Amino acid sequence: MPAQSSDRTLSPLIFEMGQDGRANAYVERGKPLESFFPKDALRDDLPLPDNTELDVVRHYTRLSQRTFGIDMGFYPLGSCTMKYNPKINDALAGLREFAELHPFVPDELAQGALQVMYELERSLSSLFGMEAFSLNPAAGAQAELAALLVSKKYFRDRGETRRNKVIVPDTAHGTNPASAAMCGYSVISLRSDARGRVDPAEIRRVVGADTAVCMMTNPNTLGLFEERIHEIADAVHEAGGLMYYDGANANALMGNARPGDMGFDLMHLNTHKTFTIPHGGGGAGHGPLGVAKHLVEYLPVPYVVRDGDWFRLDFDRPKSIGPVRSFWSNFAHAVRALAYLYANGAEGLARVSQYAVLNANYLRVKVAEFLETPYAEICRHEFVASAQPLKKETGVRALDIAKALLDRGFMAPTVYFPLIVPECLMIEPTETESKETLDEFVEALREIVAAAKSNPQELFEAPVTTVVGRVDETRAARQPDLRWRPKPA
Ligand SMILES: *Cc1c(COP(=O)(O)O)cnc(C)c1O
Repeated sequence: MPAQSSDRTLSPLIFEMGQDGRANAYVERGKPLESFFPKDALRDDLPLPDNTELDVVRHYTRLSQRTFGIDMGFYPLGSCTMKYNPKINDALAGLREFAELHPFVPDELAQGALQVMYELERSLSSLFGMEAFSLNPAAGAQAELAALLVSKKYFRDRGETRRNKVIVPDTAHGTNPASAAMCGYSVISLRSDARGRVDPAEIRRVVGADTAVCMMTNPNTLGLFEERIHEIADAVHEAGGLMYYDGANANALMGNARPGDMGFDLMHLNTHKTFTIPHGGGGAGHGPLGVAKHLVEYLPVPYVVRDGDWFRLDFDRPKSIGPVRSFWSNFAHAVRALAYLYANGAEGLARVSQYAVLNANYLRVKVAEFLETPYAEICRHEFVASAQPLKKETGVRALDIAKALLDRGFMAPTVYFPLIVPECLMIEPTETESKETLDEFVEALREIVAAAKSNPQELFEAPVTTVVGRVDETRAARQPDLRWRPKPA
């Protein structure tokens, strides 16, 4: 696999390039613009750089090659599901009938788009065993917050305002306790047992009249299936609480099992993870929120409904928590997700999950030849390895392994999460990678572990082939420099 550019100079910003009079050398200055834009929108006095088209094209093409994405190589980021994004999804989302819809378009003129939303809503509901989904939340974390707001309103309507606690296992994604705290709940962190699971006895110990919601992921973030999920759900329900399913990563489950059947009352999906929507770098997401029958009226609006052959957005739902995102949320993602669902069909989706699980187990067994894998059993879509023994022996940490992978042309796996595994590497290959790619990744890791024993210094200095080497993470967090300022003259 080719290493990335080893040119360590940072590109100048486009504002800092160019010379007066260079722009528009190809087309005669002013002419095409004037016919294209209203005259009074054109101004001559903006301090914009004068660059030739060629300079601009080279600038952005160079920048595009200085980053790493799923289109560049293997991206085994656990809990993030970085799989191949079929380009046809983007082509469909870019159709002008979708892309040029005005946010205020009346329903009568947007029937096709509303039908997309309706069919996605119905498909997700049947695939995950929920009564209905709201397509309004624009990310997983936002859907979690919306779900907890739904729970608050539900309990308030029932006069159960004493319910102020949310139970979260210690393997949970950080957004779970954060969303609960943002919603004004206090968080009970639950210790996992020796097998990395939630023990129903532990749940019974903490649930009570003050329990609002128990937030879980199944399979959990260790990639392990919670076989006793029914007992857990029963315990929470008997105490009057609600079960929330964090379905950000549905890659192990889709088409094979349904959270609704496991006893969950609310759930969210990250269509940008499971349903092949490009993400990363904080890009636009989509977090549909699904609920069981008793919570449908609380869902965020708008809710898309079908009246005979007509589709419309229903805003008139008095018990709704209201919208959490403006207009149609990230509608283009609904188009991409539906395209993916229809391209695979029910059988295809089940197969996606089966291959994702197969790939993860193939990697797990191979990686166990040279790194500790603390939960040595069949995993689901991801697994965790630990560099703790290696660190004791050589001083090389999970972070050093991650950096060394970058030099070998791979994106690093998630590190130091879940928090309960020391020196954790969390690896999720997804279903879209070939055996050859998985083998190359294993060999790169094997080589790194060997280097740790023979020449650890090399790993402490990695990465050396990327544009930026090791960053000072403390300074980046404490003194972020996020705004461009002109250089002093
Ligand atoms: C990614 C993820 C989230 C958060 O989703 P965002 O869209 O990034 O807000 C929540 N839970 C789990 C398990 C995740 O992997």
